This record gives sequence, structure tokens and C-alpha cells, in this order.
Amino acid sequence: MDVTIKNIRKEFGQFPALHDISLSIRSGELIALLGPSGSGKTTLLRLIAGLEQPTAGQIFFGEEDASEKTVQERHIGFVFQHYALFRHMTVADNIAFGLKVRPKATRPPAGEIRKRVADLLDMVHLTGLEKRYPAQLSGGQRQRVALARAMAIEPTVLLLDEPFGALDAKVRKELRRWLKEFHDRTGHTTFFVTHDQEEALELADRVVVMSQGKVEQVGSADDVYDTPNSPFVFSFIGESSHIPVTVRDNTVLFQGEPINISEQGTDGAGELFFRPQDVAISDDKTSLYGKVTACRRLAGTRIAEIDIANEGHEPYHLEVEVPLDAPVAVGAEIRFRPTRWKLFRK
Ligand code: ATP
Repeated sequence: MDVTIKNIRKEFGQFPALHDISLSIRSGELIALLGPSGSGKTTLLRLIAGLEQPTAGQIFFGEEDASEKTVQERHIGFVFQHYALFRHMTVADNIAFGLKVRPKATRPPAGEIRKRVADLLDMVHLTGLEKRYPAQLSGGQRQRVALARAMAIEPTVLLLDEPFGALDAKVRKELRRWLKEFHDRTGHTTFFVTHDQEEALELADRVVVMSQGKVEQVGSADDVYDTPNSPFVFSFIGESSHIPVTVRDNTVLFQGEPINISEQGTDGAGELFFRPQDVAISDDKTSLYGKVTACRRLAGTRIAEIDIANEGHEPYHLEVEVPLDAPVAVGAEIRFRPTRWKLFRK
């Protein structure tokens, strides 16, 4: 089902939680809503579900305006971080719940419900556990039951609000891969809320990056990581450092000195952003230089933390990836040069 969000605004009292959000989602897309706490992700999800009403704007499911539709009529599958499975019901009864409570006219016959539950158990890899109660399952298994339960009603759209947020890192990673496969098989239009950028990049067909109630950028993982369109997106997705610069005659200057980077366009001030891995250690006299304050070993590489003096102010603090065999020690002064960067003009 296509979902179109048109100029949605949501105020809680005087507080604008969402400003003028517009998105066109194609049927079958897996969309990550990514942003820091308070950016409006859950509010947007609740509006799609019909649990909140917008202050202005419209949401369409396919061609149909959902404004007049109740939560039930929207026919949506939900999974929340702390999804309350019914504790007194078995796994099978939990999954069947949404079908069993339907009015008689639309309720499938008992045999069909059993079959659908069996298929869903298979789909979420929980066959054999149908008679267990939620307390007898791991956190990851419970969330898979929650997903099967959401899928049982054959939802038009699936809404997942930090579904793995309460699970430990390893289980979370496994479930992420599993969810991706599950989505590829079932093909439901899915909105997935997360504040974990790795999760968003790995899972989503497109990532909607949100900040302070606004959409900052919408794009594939490659788009938002490789070509971020704002300082916020650059620093929120992946590691980054930035320094204030000026452009004069197509040359970038830092603290009044050229740093071997050219940039076309008008003269003026800006902020130069780059990632730790996009930096080369270099003896070039026009490079940036600073003092190594700490070194961190990662699996295949090393990160040097560098302070660049800033007269009369706190030093600029940057992170630079260095090869394992590079002679970089705490206290040493090193010169380096961004090999890829983005300059945001002021
Ligand atoms: P988190 O990752 O912490 O869940 P979020 O991005 O999902 O954050 P929302 O829960 O959508 O953010 O909240 C967006 C803003 O709207 C926040 O500032 C929040 O305090 C406010 N807000 C949300 N619900 C209400 C409400 N019912 N009444 C008043 N303000 C609210």
C-alpha cells in the first residue's frame, strides 16, 4: 500500500511536535524513521496509525484519505518496544487474537485461523513454541511473536516503534537481519522507528532523517551517508569532525592558512565536515596539524583523537583514522588532510 503524508503538522498545546511533514512512500518500502530523542518519530507513527489526529495536513493510504478512518479501519499492524503480549495466553492464542476478536461476519473459520497461526509461526521461526506462554520466551522470541501477531490481520501497513530497543546488542543484530529477510519475503509497507543509525542504514530501503519535528533528508543509506545535505545529517549519521573555515579565491583556509583543499564558489565562511576514515596522514606543509591526545584501537584500525590549538579558546577536537602501523603516539604532533569532505556554507 502506498502511503502519502501531505503537509502534516502536529501541535501538543502550543508545542509544535511536527512541522509540515510531507513524504511519499511506495508500496512495499521499508522506511526507517531515524532521529534523536524528541525529534517526532513516534508522533509521526501514531498519526499514521490514527492514534493521534494531525493539527493540519492529510495522510493517504493508496488514494484514500485516512482522516476519517478509525484505528481499526486503517487496518494497521503495530509492534512497540515493550509490546504487551497477553501473559495469560499462549503464543498461538496471542497470534490469533486479532482474528478471533473480529465480528463474526469477518472472522475467519477456526480451521483457517489455526492454519494462519501455523504459517506465521513458521514465518517467524517459532514453530514448536505455540503452547508456551510469553514468560517462557526470550525477549527476542517475544518480539517475533509480537510481529506475527501484527501480521496475522494482514495489515495494510506495518508500524514498528523501536521493536528491538529493549534487547541486548547481539540479539538486536540477529533480529535486524531476520526482519530484513522477513520484510523481503512478505513485502509489507513498513515504517520502522529507531534512533540507531546503524540499524537504519542496514535495514531500510530509505531512511527519513528527522530532527526537531522536521524531515532533514530522505534517501537510501548511501544517499544519507555519502551525500548528507545538512550539518545535522552529516554528524548524526556516522562519525564526523568539523572545523570552521573560510573560502577565498576557491581555496579553503583554516585559521587563515590554506589547507590544500579547493572549493568552487563565492568567498565566505563555512564549516568543513569530514569522516575519520576520509583523512590521510601527510607531511604536506599546508596540511592541518594537531596533537594526538588519545588513541583507540578498533578491530582493523586505530582512531587518533587530535586537538588543534585555537588561541584563547578550547582546542578543536577531531577524530582521525590511522593505519595500525602508522607511528602515531599520544603526545605526538601529526599533520593530516581530509581526502573527502563536505563544506557547508554559513
Ligand atoms: P524518542 O526517540 O525519545 O521516542 P521521538 O523522536 O519518538 O523520541 P516523540 O515521542 O514523537 O519523539 O516526541 C516529539 C516531541 O513531542 C517531544 O518533544 C515530546 O515531548 C512531544 N510530545 C510527544 N507526545 C506528546 C504529548 N502527548 N503531549 C505533549 N507533548 C508530546
